[in-house]
This record gives sequence, structure tokens and C-alpha cells, in this order.
Amino acid sequence: MQKRFILPEDQIPKQWYNIQAEMPNKPLPMLNPGTKQPVTVDELSHIFSRAASEQELNTTDAWIDIPEPVRELYKYYRSTPLVRAYGLEKALGTPAHIYFKNESVSPVGSHKLNSALPQAYYCAQEGITNVTTETGAGQWGTALSYAAKVFGLEAAVYMVKISYEQKPYRRSIMQTYGAQVIASPSMSTRAGKDILTAQPNYQGSLGTAISEAVELAMNTPNCRYSLGSVLNHVVLHQSIIGLEAEKQMEMAGEYPDLVIGCFGGGSNFGGISFPFMRHVFSGKKKTKFLAAEPSACPKFTKGIYHYDFGDEAGYTPLIAMYTLGHTFQPANIHAGGLRYHGAGMIISQLYKDGYLSAVDIPQTETFKAGLLFSQTESIIPAPESCHAIAATIREAEKCKKTGEEKVILFNLSGHGLIDIAAYDKYLAGDLTDATVSDEYIQKSIAELKAKLGE
Ligand SMILES: *Cc1c(COP(=O)(O)O)cnc(C)c1O
Repeated sequence: MQKRFILPEDQIPKQWYNIQAEMPNKPLPMLNPGTKQPVTVDELSHIFSRAASEQELNTTDAWIDIPEPVRELYKYYRSTPLVRAYGLEKALGTPAHIYFKNESVSPVGSHKLNSALPQAYYCAQEGITNVTTETGAGQWGTALSYAAKVFGLEAAVYMVKISYEQKPYRRSIMQTYGAQVIASPSMSTRAGKDILTAQPNYQGSLGTAISEAVELAMNTPNCRYSLGSVLNHVVLHQSIIGLEAEKQMEMAGEYPDLVIGCFGGGSNFGGISFPFMRHVFSGKKKTKFLAAEPSACPKFTKGIYHYDFGDEAGYTPLIAMYTLGHTFQPANIHAGGLRYHGAGMIISQLYKDGYLSAVDIPQTETFKAGLLFSQTESIIPAPESCHAIAATIREAEKCKKTGEEKVILFNLSGHGLIDIAAYDKYLAGDLTDATVSDEYIQKSIAELKAKLGE
């Protein structure tokens, strides 16, 4: 019984899949918050590279070539293995066939490098010398730091202050790859100064760090901002995950009935799902898709579909998304990558149209799932990925009751070897479920409506 399925180098996909071109209903356009008109490539390219801006708004080309230099760097860790989780299946006593795509083998430990490489490449091609971004848990900051270095760019990473202080090794990893790391809020931007003046002890948030990085990019010649999730071009780059998985499932002689991913802004979920979803659009397949979000930040299960900002200060374009409101502060869970108030615009439209469903899962259940996975499949998963595993276990247990031999594919978005402090707390019984109250969610949504209308 084959355990791992790996593609030879010459079969790594040469193009990304752009689902925007084939969606039955296109997402509502991204708006300039000042004019309320759809944003243009010219406007976006003040913030992002021109190539990324064009990809962001490309609704016509279903297939986009992966540049040769990016393909060369993908070879450092791709294809990532597709693995049959025999150990987990046995422990659960389920008739389900469970597969996972192992993105944790990336040198930075998560799927984030799949988009950091092309984003840095396009900047270098366009003569840009500096890139900037934000990072919470450190996964995205690490990926961009390395990608910037290999393409000869300087990287400045705004790291949420509480993580900067509590997770010094993550800062060291970024510095090892040659990046400059700044605790956010900082005095280097207007957004940072404003917040620090009002609240000198503020510990920072992802929303504030995004505002700082965007401001730096807008005010610095030859500097561009780079985002690790949510946006359309990021999901485009991540389609490499699902395109490989499609070929690997074929090697395994199976096809998924259900595809599962954890959900922060949607890049790893969209990455594994969209190549399979295209066959649902064409009527050839009936695959189901399930997004696993944290109970601490349940934008699909408890949010609303509304135009909203991507950041706290309101610098970004307005995006039609499932959101909890841009001022929403998620409960403080260890899955930092899932603590984002909104979902990307493509995935939001698809959710609205019924192509995927969502569950929200409390923190302790996700770590329980992570422990079982570690002990049966040997890999210690990232706290984010534990959400996908917990959702997979729920589904596999349903199969045990019904006897159904469902084929389930989930994405293992990263490993948890830099999250051991979180496992330590779980093992000591010190973790809570970290859910948020409905009252707080309603308050945050009311603030959004007060600012942007019904
Ligand atoms: C960033 C991150 C996520 C969440 O981001 P998405 O864009 O929703 O994929 C999930 N898992 C890991 C390991 C991450 O680093």
C-alpha cells in the first residue's frame, strides 16, 4: 500500500489556475474607498508590483504561466508529498480514505512560500528594490524574507509587538534570512505614531501592522507591499497545491469526495480547492469543500457579506467579503494565521453561491486533533493546520457511523515545530476554547455598518 505520492520534477505544473476566469458569478469589484469606483491596475500598482496588480484584476485568463525562475525555486521543495493517512484512519477506525497534501515540507515550514517567491520575483523584474509586509505568527514574514533575499531585495517586516517580544526565535529566523524586523506599532509610520500616542502600551495587531507596511510602501520610492493571503493573486499562486494534488490523487487511483482546509484569509484553502472546484463548475464532479475556521474568528459561520477594509486603519481598497468588521479583535488563540477578520473576495462569492461550507472549531478540539495526528502520522502540525485535521476527524467519524468509504483530502498547511510553546500549554491543560460572544460580534458588525452603510 503506497503511503506517499510524489511528482517527478518535470511534472510540476507550469501554470497556475485562475478561478476568477471560470466562476459562475464573478465577485463584486474591489473599490477605491475615496471614489467608490472599481480600483484599476494603475492604482493597485502604487502598492503592489504591476504584475501582481494585473493578476489581481485578471478575470479572463484561466491559466497563467509560472515564470521560469520561480519554477526553479519551487523545485527546492516541490512537489510536496500527497500522503495517505493510514495511521490516522486506523486510530479512528474509519472506513474513510484520508489523504493530506504536505505543505509543511517547504523550507519555511508552510505553504506561504508558494506566493512569496513569485511576488518577490515580479518586484525584482520591475526594478523595485525594497519590499515590506506585516507578520503575526511569523510564517508569512519568514517566507517573504527568504524570497526577497533570493531575488536580491531588501525586506522590512512589521511584526506585531506582542509576537516580537514573546516569540524572539521567529524574529531571528527572519533576520537569518536577512530581513529587517520592526515591532509594530512603531514610530516609523504615521499609523504607528498615532496609535502609540493614544495608547503607549499597545501590544499591536495584524490590522495595525498592515497599515504600517502599506504606509511605508506608499511613501517610499521603489518599495512595494506584499500580502500573504486574502488577495486574488495570492490564491492564484497557491493553486500549485491543488494542481499537484490532482495529479497525485490520480497516481493514487482515487478522487476526493471532500476537500478540507483551514481558513485564515483563504490562500491555502483556495490553493488546494480551486483546481478541484473547476470540475464542479463544469458539471463533471460533485466534490464538496469544507473550510475550517477557529471559533475565535468565525467570519463565515457568524459574519456578514459586506464591503469592508482589509486593515484596521482603513488604507486598503474596499473588498466585498464575509467579515466580522475590520475593528474586530479575535480571541487570542495560538493559530495566529487564522486571526483575520475577513475572507478573500473570490472565496466569499463562492461561499455565497453555495460551493463550499464552513465549520468553526474551538481551540482545544484543534489541539486534541493535532496530538492524535502527531502520534499517528509523525508530523507535528501547525496550530492553524490543526483546524483542518479536527474537521477531517469529525467527517471521518461520521463515516464510521454510516460505513461510507468517503475519500477526504485535506491540506496540511504547515508544521508546528516553532509552535511548541502552544503544545506545551495544551499539555499542561492551560488552553481555553477561546470563543467570542455573539454580543461582541454584533457590536463589531454594527460598527462596520455605521462606517460603511447597510
Ligand atoms: C498563514 C497560515 C494559514 C492561514 O492563511 P490562509 O491564507 O487562510 O491559508 C494557515 N496555515 C498556516 C501554516 C499558515 O502559516
